[in-house]
Amino acid sequence: MPAPANPRIAVLGFSIECNKFAPPATRAHFLARTYLEGDAIIAEARGPTPTMLPETPGFVAAMDASGPWQPIGIALAMAEPNGPVEQAFFTALLETIARRLRAALPLDGVYICAHGAAVTTADDDSEGALFEIVRAVVGPDVPVVATFDLHANVSDRMVDLIDAFIGYRTNPHLDMRGRGAEAAAGLRELLAGTKTERVRLRLPIVPPTVTLLTAAGPYAEMIRLGQERMTSEIMNVSVMGGFAYSDTAKNGLSVIVTGRGSDSRAAAAALAREIAEYGWQQRARFYAHLTPLDEAVQQALAAGRDPSLPALCFADVADNPGGGGRGNTMYLLRAFAAAGVTGALFGIVYDPELAAEAHGHGLHYHFTAQFNRAETTNFSEPWSAPARVAALSDGNCVGRRGIYAGQRLALGPTAALAVGGITVVVVSHRLQCADPVFFEMLGLDVRRARSVAVKSRGHFRGGFDEFFGPDQIVEVDLPGLTSPMLQRFQWTRLPRPVIPLDLDVEYRLS
Ligand SMILES: [Zn+2]
Repeated sequence: MPAPANPRIAVLGFSIECNKFAPPATRAHFLARTYLEGDAIIAEARGPTPTMLPETPGFVAAMDASGPWQPIGIALAMAEPNGPVEQAFFTALLETIARRLRAALPLDGVYICAHGAAVTTADDDSEGALFEIVRAVVGPDVPVVATFDLHANVSDRMVDLIDAFIGYRTNPHLDMRGRGAEAAAGLRELLAGTKTERVRLRLPIVPPTVTLLTAAGPYAEMIRLGQERMTSEIMNVSVMGGFAYSDTAKNGLSVIVTGRGSDSRAAAAALAREIAEYGWQQRARFYAHLTPLDEAVQQALAAGRDPSLPALCFADVADNPGGGGRGNTMYLLRAFAAAGVTGALFGIVYDPELAAEAHGHGLHYHFTAQFNRAETTNFSEPWSAPARVAALSDGNCVGRRGIYAGQRLALGPTAALAVGGITVVVVSHRLQCADPVFFEMLGLDVRRARSVAVKSRGHFRGGFDEFFGPDQIVEVDLPGLTSPMLQRFQWTRLPRPVIPLDLDVEYRLS
């Protein structure tokens, strides 16, 4: 059959990364970030500063550029990483998607912007549930392509129910738009009649977040190997690091190969196996190594005192809002303040009450800043310090660099507080500190800081790389909901035995 001249393509999405140890994500969290239905999805995807992650804009732009099509927006729900999604919201979203898909029939294809590390309060495989409903409505023959974050935890049905599996290949995630465009190219092929085979292999390795960088390291090498082995029989190779804190039975470093053509299964399986074997050989490298707090404090003190030393970027990887952390733990700030660290920027701390109070006081007001007076989550302890309101902002900005580049962002009422030699940025909406614009919008100069402490696991690397090379980054070992020291958590669902938690882990490729 020739490709339809003006194909009707449904566009939908569900994207959140869920940390079982964090409080649940509610409907309000999606409404506060991105919740769109119908034509509004396509309109925003084509707009100059969308709120949605860039895969969908990349998909829409590539479809626009590659020929006629009729985009049909269904529903798109995205929220900042958090705890499990409340099942009632997810059920309502599935019903909306099914209803709108049925109304849009007949369809020629479907694009799904998925994340892959969602869970709900009642379901560990929410993407699988979503794909099942999509497939049930459109039937077995309509091509369905989906994009995934490389932190996706992948089930068999997530692979089996779609025609092409396309995961990010960069961490920090700087290729979201590119993967959306790749999904469009794949969908055009499928519309022209190409069939695919998908193969998935999972290793008994749940990699700590800090071992999943793609500039260098074992994970980078697995991804590179996959790209080097691309042939005409292979449509896509995705190596998914997974997200440990979802704590599901489907966790584990996975290789998913989409083979091109109905007789590509053997080639796809052989390639998946080669990459999985390579990953298994590298298993000793999937352990986290962090800098102890005392050492980090000494480094920050020295950087503040001696301008001839390089400036440093301290990452509070254990309190990363981008992984469900609350963005408000005080371990690092308290230690820096107690030691008398100077020339430091610290951010961004999620504390709406404190930000509101600072706005009430106004610029240059001196007061006792009480952090975490309302937050009662684990690790989010109260702390007080004398402070001065150094700058104020409404928190509206457009991302400048890295994963947020070009995105419209709202941090809510925001304040810079001078606490001794440290300037702390306090915000009202929880977000990871992945973009220097969060300091710059308050008039703070990152280039002049001797130390910058960020609540981010790794995406700060894509935003702050113009100030800090890899040798100037210090990943600090602190308590928190996103600590890479996985042995500190009470796991209930992870497949065991597994690296890095257990000894004597075996893996046999069948
Ligand atoms: Zn991710």
